[in-house]
Amino acid sequence: MVKETGYYDILGVNPSATPDELKKAYRKMALKYHPDKNPTEGEKFKQISQAYEVLSDPKKRDLYDRGGEKAIKEGGTGGGGGFASPMDIFDMFFGGGSRMHRERKGKNIVHQISVSLEDLYNGATRKLAVQKNMLCEKCEGRGSRKGAAQTCMSCQGTGMQVRVHQLLPGMVQQVSTMCPHCEGRGQRISHKDRCKACAGRKILRQKKILEVHIDKGMRDGQKIFFHGEGDQEPGIEPGDIIFVLDQQEHPRFTRKGQDLIMSMELQLVEALCGFQKPVQTLDNRTLLITTPPGQLIKPGDTKCVLNEGMPLHRRPFEKGRLIINFSVVFPPANFLPKQKLKELERYFPPKGEVEQPEMMDDDLYIYADLEECDFENRRRRNSHYYYVDDDDYASAGGVQCHTS
Ligand SMILES: [Zn+2]
Ligand SMILES: [Zn+2]
Repeated sequence: MVKETGYYDILGVNPSATPDELKKAYRKMALKYHPDKNPTEGEKFKQISQAYEVLSDPKKRDLYDRGGEKAIKEGGTGGGGGFASPMDIFDMFFGGGSRMHRERKGKNIVHQISVSLEDLYNGATRKLAVQKNMLCEKCEGRGSRKGAAQTCMSCQGTGMQVRVHQLLPGMVQQVSTMCPHCEGRGQRISHKDRCKACAGRKILRQKKILEVHIDKGMRDGQKIFFHGEGDQEPGIEPGDIIFVLDQQEHPRFTRKGQDLIMSMELQLVEALCGFQKPVQTLDNRTLLITTPPGQLIKPGDTKCVLNEGMPLHRRPFEKGRLIINFSVVFPPANFLPKQKLKELERYFPPKGEVEQPEMMDDDLYIYADLEECDFENRRRRNSHYYYVDDDDYASAGGVQCHTS
């Protein structure tokens, strides 16, 4: 039992979540609430980041599970219990490197792409339009004709102005503000020299089409990097655009590593006497799943077809397994008249206990009828023939025994 579930709730997972489930939850939430996409949800983004920072570290998670948020804030693991910056956690997670790195480089832009299991099986190409800042080509990012820019005299090229206020005699306050003459650029360009294309701003917001190749065998959460395709800014190396694959649930298959898992429902006769059942693969072939007569499938059996799972990334000719979990549907009650049942019985191995009719004495045995155990389920599924409403249930003072 955990003391609190707050951090788990923020990420929308159970306290029993595996590290993989935590990663996936963080990935989805962080992309959704990143300030680039959701500028008004800064607080939420911070909470997501803090929750993930704690839960992704086994020591901190253990501390949190035992002592709750209080224990984390008091910093039982040392380091004063402070949190890293949400942006650093985000950058670290999405492979953008540390903050040191970011100071030389522009920031990375992360997008999520929704993909189907078919896309990951067959490979796919997506053309995606991204909006990004690009250096103006006309002026090569200078904002003016070559040599036309002059250092701003008001701020000596720093872009900032420092004002000194006297608050009291002997006590002054320094206030830095953006230089109003050059709007913080440190340069002044006379109107006539200003680049017409970017109006002196040096950068233009432009649309660029990126072609994203989704390779066979890629997995949910995998990142595809476009190095140096982030926003351009004069004097700074642009960051990366990172696409994160987000696999949508498939109606038939669940993926586990390189295996595909599906369930198959068999009629009792199929389970006992053999069957052939078609399964549509992710590349639209039809597999005929076959058991020969004589081999039988029991409810809950798991079998697999080799080499019909997911292709391996970068080795697409190797594939995992297709794992099939079987369930068996029994025929409805009274599917055979009673005399036919006797006949059917002859084909089965004998019953476990040999019947001895002369021993069936009413004084020695108490006949016990079987009832459904699962009260809730019985109400839901079989309400047409046996219905107890809440009032009856309450007045009966507990489990009601149905005898007829
Ligand atoms: Zn320009
Ligand atoms: Zn200035």
